[in-house]
Amino acid sequence: MNCASVKKELQAYLDHELDGQAEQAVAAHLTSCCACRDQAALLKAIRAAIPGPAPVSAGFTARLQAKLRQRSQPREPLWSFRPWKLALAASLACCLLVVALAVRLSGPQPPRSAPDEPSRWQDVASTDRCLVADCKGS
Ligand SMILES: [Zn+2]
Repeated sequence: MNCASVKKELQAYLDHELDGQAEQAVAAHLTSCCACRDQAALLKAIRAAIPGPAPVSAGFTARLQAKLRQRSQPREPLWSFRPWKLALAASLACCLLVVALAVRLSGPQPPRSAPDEPSRWQDVASTDRCLVADCKGS
C-alpha cells in the first residue's frame, strides 16, 4: 500500500470502518511510514479537540420521536370534500331559504291598485310618451 492510497483510507481507518484486510494494510503502512503516521496523529488530535455532542435531557429522544410521528401524519386539507360538510352546507342553505320565505310571507303586502285606477307604471309610460312627443315637436 502506498501513501496516496493510505491517505484516501486514513479517515475510514481511524473510524474503524475498514474491513480486516484493508485495516491491516493501513496499520502496516503506518508502522513503516513516518509521514502517514504523522497525518494519522494530526487527524486524531483534531478529532480530540472537537467536543462531542451536548448531553440531552432525559426523555428527549422519546419526545422528539413523538413529535416526528405527529408531524409525519397527514393533515386534512382545509377545503377537503367530506360528506358531512356537504350535508351541513345544504342544511344551512335550507334554513336560510325557510327564514327568507317566512320573512317574505309574514311581512306587509304591497298595496294593490284598484282595477279602474291606472297603475303607476302606466303613468310613467304616458309621461315618457308625452315628453318624447314634446321633444319631437320642438
Ligand atoms: Zn505513507
